[in-house]
Amino acid sequence: MGGWVRDRIMGIPCSDMDVTTSALPEEMLEVFKDYRVIPTGIKHGTVTVLMPEPVEVTTYRVDGSYSDSRHPDSVSFTRSLREDLARRDFTVNAIAYHPELGYIDPFGGMEDIKRGVIRAVGDPERRFSEDALRILRAVRFCSRLDFTMDDATARAAESMAWRLDGVSPERKYVELVKTLMGKGVRRALTGYSQVISAVIPELKKCIGFDQKSRHHDFDLYTHIAIAVSQCPRHAELRLAALLHDIAKPDCFYSDERGGHFPEHAQKSAEMAEGILRRLRADNSTVKAVVGWIKHHRDIPKSDAELKRMLLKLSPEGAERLLELMMADSAAKKAGAGVSRELLNKRRRMEQIIKSGECYSLRGLDIDGDILIEAGYCGKEIGRALQLALDAVIEDKIKNDRREIEKYLKGMLSNGK
Ligand code: ATP
Ligand code: MG
Repeated sequence: MGGWVRDRIMGIPCSDMDVTTSALPEEMLEVFKDYRVIPTGIKHGTVTVLMPEPVEVTTYRVDGSYSDSRHPDSVSFTRSLREDLARRDFTVNAIAYHPELGYIDPFGGMEDIKRGVIRAVGDPERRFSEDALRILRAVRFCSRLDFTMDDATARAAESMAWRLDGVSPERKYVELVKTLMGKGVRRALTGYSQVISAVIPELKKCIGFDQKSRHHDFDLYTHIAIAVSQCPRHAELRLAALLHDIAKPDCFYSDERGGHFPEHAQKSAEMAEGILRRLRADNSTVKAVVGWIKHHRDIPKSDAELKRMLLKLSPEGAERLLELMMADSAAKKAGAGVSRELLNKRRRMEQIIKSGECYSLRGLDIDGDILIEAGYCGKEIGRALQLALDAVIEDKIKNDRREIEKYLKGMLSNGK
């Protein structure tokens, strides 16, 4: 039923199977009386049967009328599978599978899977006005399956995209992230920019924006879409790519050398923070994404800078930032590929981590206790440790207890 059947037909590995039945909830309880059953949403006809892995079983339903483009006012049960399939959003999600009867596909979902098409079940305008989130879900399935919308569905999606304003941020965020994770994300973002920018209006100025730069082949929005698609499939990283240049239109000026965007990394980080908070992203996502955007132009030039990046962002965060930089650079010129310089940086960073070279206080061959024994006290200790770490990172001295102590003595006698 739904996504499971679709993925099975397409040969995509699929996990959560939804089962649907003409049996009413109380009949299901009777049928499954030998199993443990959790009455997950029994009012809506859903129970979870532990077989022993949990399987959701739902009675065929028809949704009642929609008054808030969100929740149907009521649901009622039906004995007709066709009616249940008719309430589903897209034809590719409206195919059922029966162990003896095979596929049941009253809306041509199979054909649409073959053609790679997302098509609303029934009249797209009516379906999108019942629940505007479906507009974004259409883009999400295009991205996930690398499909395109059929013409009438696409027209309705674009012209009704503004209705996403009325959808809760939490629901939009879930679909947005799933959209970013799809293998067809580049085409989905560029093909349905009206829908994406209805969720993030700040992107409107980026669409078609000419960067007037010899480093860039594409308009700003296309550059962003390519950068997202060049990132590994990591939700936070792809969010960072989506928002990394969002302030560029506001920072733009041009002279005889072309377009310039002073401070755009910092400004984009600030805008990204506002956008993510508005979409109710969790704190750790906001923190990571904003940090990477802020530093997305600070390509480390030396070992010392690489180590400072590791110190600031942790190995995982630093690795992700380098990936964002790579995606950004690969999205500038057609067929650019991955920057050799950045690949070398990443290799060097991995070496630093593997070989245990010091980049943090923890890795220092000296600690507070040793300094106390050597007669340091109070605030001096922290300052001395910081001085020692700086000197080791800058490669002025070796990470060796004796050398560090000698260095600190020298610094102190110099009155520093
Ligand atoms: P995924 O594998 O990404 O979870 P899915 O198709 O299972 O994809 P879900 O969001 O889990 O997508 O929804 C399950 C099924 O419920 C869909 O296939 C669709 O038939 C139906 N559905 C979900 N949300 C809606 C909606 N807003 N309007 C209509 N039908 C919906
Ligand atoms: Mg699902």
